[in-house]
Amino acid sequence: MLRVIHLASELAPIAKVGGLADVVTGLSKELIAQGALVEVILPKYDCMLLDDVEDLHIEAYNIPSYLDGTWVSNTIWTGRVLGVRVYFIEAHNAHPFFERGTFYGCPDDITRFSYFARAALEWLHQSHRSIDILHLHDWQTALAAVLFWDIYQPLGLQIGRIVFTLHNMEHQGRGSTEDLSKIGLDGRKYLVYDKLADNDYPASINLAKGGIVYANAVTTVSPTYAREVQQDGGGHGLSTTLQIYAHKFSGIINGLDTQYWDPATDKFLTHHYTIDDPSTLSNKKLLKTSLQKRLGLHITDAPLVATISRLVPQKGVDLLEHALFHTLKLGGQFVLVGSSPITSIRDHFAALKAQFAHSGNVFIELMSHEELAHHVYAAADMFLVPSIFEPCGLTQLIAMRYGAIPIVRKTGGLSDTVTDFTYPADPSRQGNGFVFNDADTNAIEWALSRAFAWRHDQPAQWDALLAQAMRADNSWHTPAQAYLSLYNSLLNT
Ligand code: ADP
Repeated sequence: MLRVIHLASELAPIAKVGGLADVVTGLSKELIAQGALVEVILPKYDCMLLDDVEDLHIEAYNIPSYLDGTWVSNTIWTGRVLGVRVYFIEAHNAHPFFERGTFYGCPDDITRFSYFARAALEWLHQSHRSIDILHLHDWQTALAAVLFWDIYQPLGLQIGRIVFTLHNMEHQGRGSTEDLSKIGLDGRKYLVYDKLADNDYPASINLAKGGIVYANAVTTVSPTYAREVQQDGGGHGLSTTLQIYAHKFSGIINGLDTQYWDPATDKFLTHHYTIDDPSTLSNKKLLKTSLQKRLGLHITDAPLVATISRLVPQKGVDLLEHALFHTLKLGGQFVLVGSSPITSIRDHFAALKAQFAHSGNVFIELMSHEELAHHVYAAADMFLVPSIFEPCGLTQLIAMRYGAIPIVRKTGGLSDTVTDFTYPADPSRQGNGFVFNDADTNAIEWALSRAFAWRHDQPAQWDALLAQAMRADNSWHTPAQAYLSLYNSLLNT
């Protein structure tokens, strides 16, 4: 049986900041369903939702890991999350790395996650584990590839092959040679172009680059994004490195955890529906009315346009704001659920929220709110994703499954998963949404206006579109097969 370990900084639903969390959980569950033995190693954050961890208990005490010329003790915990075995590393350093009340955003993030990578390998080594595939996710765990080949493989740790997945090239983990030295690597040795020296800032080390150079295979989360990041600019400084390693780089589209995201069974919904029984679709309408009541919106059949997103420049925040005004002009309602780590963006949307507080047609929630998100996906008629770039994007997949027609910009994984209803680029693909090319206000107005017109003028066609979107197979089944064949091909070479 293939033994796979994911090393990750997020895991849905217990430690989630964005799509990375959904991917690690969804992929793990499906790999298990397809016969692999899969486990996950995660930091033991104090802000995790421990209620969703079954049978949490201590696996090992006093596992020492190197930090700053000394050895720090770790406790290893274990439990099950949605059926997946997870190990949690609790670090006992002076200002404990994972007891900060937050997942990211500490001044010592580079050290926190470099330490995590080293402690994870140290524990695998000390517990004499033997695994086939170590799968690393994003810069937070990339250093494990370097640590394995340069420290732990010579010490006898048994790992067959290492896969590194880039979920978002915007975040690369830039640090200094001292950051590497802190966890026991000779920092200066890695500050060279063909190792970890940053391509744009050669005095810095770049952890994501280390993952690309040292892993046996590198993947990203959609075929189109894989092409985009190899082009100048798309790779946020790493395009040339990805071109050099093109032979081991590929894009595998993300899937959706279709058990968790299922309008037929969703535990957060008061009514359920499925496209397999169209008579249940009236429940979607009931959910729309109950959301309108809940959010203080007018009760109306006018199109409800929604977006659920981190509010950061990548997500096209200016376009989102423009879409709000255009939706109102077209007679629709607009609901936005978004959190932002950027104060100026948060303040800007807080002002918009205040401006429309009593309008009855706009609702803005500026926080992360899982239950509300489920209700919004179910209630919405249309769902906007105007990203400037989008590695894969999960919200458009969830929206389709919940019968909210996606309106997306043609970039990255949005381009791979949404096909325009009226202008399909590839006529063999059935339309399941609306797509626009340019990141400007004209383009988003055009797409929104087309969607409104179709819904109003062609109700039968709209129902056909709804059925196509809801029936789209975006499960993990096929992507997990692709990962399994990648793992097996690596082990056979
Ligand atoms: P990214 O990983 O770039 O944030 P994705 O589309 O890949 O974007 O994944 C976003 C995930 O986070 C989805 O599951 C989405 O429902 C969820 N999400 C984003 N913002 C919020 C929010 N404010 N409240 C609840 N869930 C959110």
